[in-house]
Amino acid sequence: MRVLSAGELLTVWEQGLMLEPVRQALVLLTSACPEIPPPQLAQLSIGQRDALLLTLREWTFGSQLQSLATCGKCGEHLELNFSVADIRTAIPTQSPESFSVQVEGWEIEFRVPNSLDLMAIASLPPSDTRSTILQRCLLKVWERGEIQAVEKLPTPIANAVVTQMAKFDPQADIQLNLCCPTCGHQWRSTFDIVSFFWREIHAWAIRTLREVHLLASNYGWGEAEILKMSPYRRQLYLQMVGR
Ligand SMILES: [Zn+2]
Repeated sequence: MRVLSAGELLTVWEQGLMLEPVRQALVLLTSACPEIPPPQLAQLSIGQRDALLLTLREWTFGSQLQSLATCGKCGEHLELNFSVADIRTAIPTQSPESFSVQVEGWEIEFRVPNSLDLMAIASLPPSDTRSTILQRCLLKVWERGEIQAVEKLPTPIANAVVTQMAKFDPQADIQLNLCCPTCGHQWRSTFDIVSFFWREIHAWAIRTLREVHLLASNYGWGEAEILKMSPYRRQLYLQMVGR
């Protein structure tokens, strides 16, 4: 993986603008990881994908993350400050393609979900997403040594497999422990690097295009040469034109 230049990041932003988050993540990684063929990127587990996105976010905007949350009890607005290191989990040593668990006479061979699975459920009603993920990710199911259809798996056993999936791919589900300083209410909030990073890229792109507009209008320079300047140099010129 490599750092994206300002021009490349703008191109990625433009390509991903109208796409759903799972595809925005792939557009970003396809540009930043030319060494990994796109079909392989789509088959990374969600945790592996998110680990790469965290690194790319760190290289692009730094290691500190700021986010907002609202207390569900008293409505207080919280400003959250944490670092990439705080939410980075250990990388699983096993490959994400095949795991197996044994639960109460059942043996299940499964893989953990990847971007292709998320794309497959993107347009489904929420009631169908879980069964579709299980259909796709459970590779073989045995009951007391006999092969069974995935649909035969009792719900408690399927729940146990889903718990194992999360355990084998911890980076895919990041929970922040929050506590309201006003009323003491404690809760957990999911942190999603894809939507977080994309919101930042969107705000950065709008700001950058405005800077290009101001400098191009004042100096007559082209977009490419303005984007090639360091942000510091661009800011100095913007100050000189009174912005
Ligand atoms: Zn509160």
